[in-house]
Order: sequence, then structure tokens, then C-alpha cells
Amino acid sequence: MIDVSPAIDTNGAVIAIDIGGTTIKGAAVNRAGRVIARQTTSSFAVDDDVLSGVVSVIHNLRTAATSSGFQVRRIGLASPGLVDAESGTVHYAPNLRWKSLRLKDLLEDGFNLPVRVEHDARTGAMAERSAHPSQSRRFDDFVFIPLGTGVSAAIVTAGVLVAGATGASGEFGHVSVDPRGELCVCGRNGCVEAYASASSIVARYRRLGGVLPPSAPAIAGAITSDPIAARVWDDAVDALARGISSLTAVLDPAVIVIGVGLSDAGPILLEPLRVRVSENLSWRTAPDIIQSKAGPRAGLVGAALLAWTGTPLESNFVEAACVSLRGDDAAVASTSPR
Ligand SMILES: [Zn+2]
Repeated sequence: MIDVSPAIDTNGAVIAIDIGGTTIKGAAVNRAGRVIARQTTSSFAVDDDVLSGVVSVIHNLRTAATSSGFQVRRIGLASPGLVDAESGTVHYAPNLRWKSLRLKDLLEDGFNLPVRVEHDARTGAMAERSAHPSQSRRFDDFVFIPLGTGVSAAIVTAGVLVAGATGASGEFGHVSVDPRGELCVCGRNGCVEAYASASSIVARYRRLGGVLPPSAPAIAGAITSDPIAARVWDDAVDALARGISSLTAVLDPAVIVIGVGLSDAGPILLEPLRVRVSENLSWRTAPDIIQSKAGPRAGLVGAALLAWTGTPLESNFVEAACVSLRGDDAAVASTSPR
């Protein structure tokens, strides 16, 4: 099912896609940040192939936008994995079963529209930065850390989003904070992700004998009454704090923004995290650690910003997009493309 809002003043729109290992989220968005059409589908719903799903969502959104009187100008995509934004190639994204996929070329050929591709944490950082227009100086040096199925970081230094030599910067989840610690999916021990991702929190809680429903928010909500939940949560905070302290020592960011699923835990996460980071960095000032403003839609809204790069937008673009994207997931996530 595609929700379609009535046409408004301007007729230009972009299609933004946030590709994940579980869902593909898509939206057609105008220059005011108004969402004209949207669709969320399971990543492997079309032919058990993520690229087919992406093509299908773009096709559906373009049809919906066009029939509402909009002209689609560009496509912006946020992808996990090792992403080369310049060539628009996803070098490696195991959750999507992608290797050396020339996403930009394939979609430009297929849709005859300009396409931009970027790492999902970096599009999230673009959204987060734009969500704080009055603090642009502070957000010239900041780190965005989305905590979801995995853990990564997008780094902005001197106003520049850092991609790295091969587009592989920001694998913060695989910074080891304990060489003899938990085994990580990457094959090493003690990575931040092995403690602080939503999936690791659930897996560790279960392994230690916890009986609550397998969800990180449920575990976070039980830390005062369930000793196993308290231990798992404390380990997650500690691993994150160690990782953030190392990042801070190297990069000296003004702000660290914690985003996506676990940031909903709010003070339960942020308050002990601030204390630990300050303790670790007793020899210097700790950066501000704040909750994401763009929320779980940061990657998708950032993909829209990416697609609109070079075009003047309304100053409240991110806020408007976040408001119009609020609260659809449960209803639309299970919907197959038609
Ligand atoms: Zn790892």
C-alpha cells in the first residue's frame, strides 16, 4: 500500500530510499520536506533479492508522485556496508548479500534519473546536522552513532563528512574495547558492537539466563528489577563509553549524537554514558552526548537531503520530513510492493 498526500505548491520531488537488512524504507519528498508518497517493504520481498525490492519501491513511489502532479528529479539512497559514494558502488554489504554492486549505474540506467548513494550512517549524520541549524559551528565537528542491529559512526570533521580512502570509515562497532571479551561477528573479540548493538544486548541477556521478551527496550526497562538486565545494560554502556572516549581522544568532537533504536531508551542510556565518558576523559573536557533529533528516520531523511544536494531547501526540511514520516512502521512494514 502506498499513502499518497495531495499535491502542494511546488512540483519537484526526490525519491529517498533507506536500505536495511530487514526493511527497505522509501519516500518521495519535496523541497519543503513534505512527504508525498511513502512505502516500507521487507528487504527480500521481491524475488528474495534486495535490489529487486529497491527497484520496485522506486518504481511505485515515482508512479505515485507523478500521478499526484510531481516530477521526480533525483534518487538518493542510503546503504549499509562499504559504500563508495563517488562511484555509487556498494563494495560489500553482507546483510544485503551485495558485493561490488554498481548501484548508481544500475539505477540511473533503469530510471533515467540522476542517482546518489551514500553510507546510511553518513546520510543520518547529514539529517542530524541539518536538524540543528542554529548550532552549525558545533556540528562542524561531531559524531553520529546509530545503535541498531549493528553499531557504526559517521564522522564530521571541520564541516566535512569523512568517508575515508575506500569509503569504509566509521566502523566504530568493530573498535575492540576488551581483547579477551565477547566474540564479535567480525571474528575478533570485545568489539563495541558485541555489547552495545540491540541484537547483542538481547543475545547476551538470553545467554546469561534472562527470561524477559527478547527486545532491547524490554531489557532497558528492567534494569532496576532484573540483575541480568542490569549487568547486560551496564556492559553495553561501558563498551560504548570506552569506544566514545577513544573517538574523542582522536577527533575532539563537540557533540556525539546517539541515534536509531536504542536512543529511545533516553536517560537510561545517556545519563550513565555521560558519566562514564567523563570519567574516562578526566584529563580533558568530554563532548556533549545527546539523543538524535531526526530519530529512527535519520537515514531516510538524510537520503532525501543527499538527493536534493545543491538545491535550496526550506530551513525546517528535516523537522517537516520527520513529522510527516512519524508512526507508520507497524502498519506499512509488512506491506508488499504492488
Ligand atoms: Zn567486531
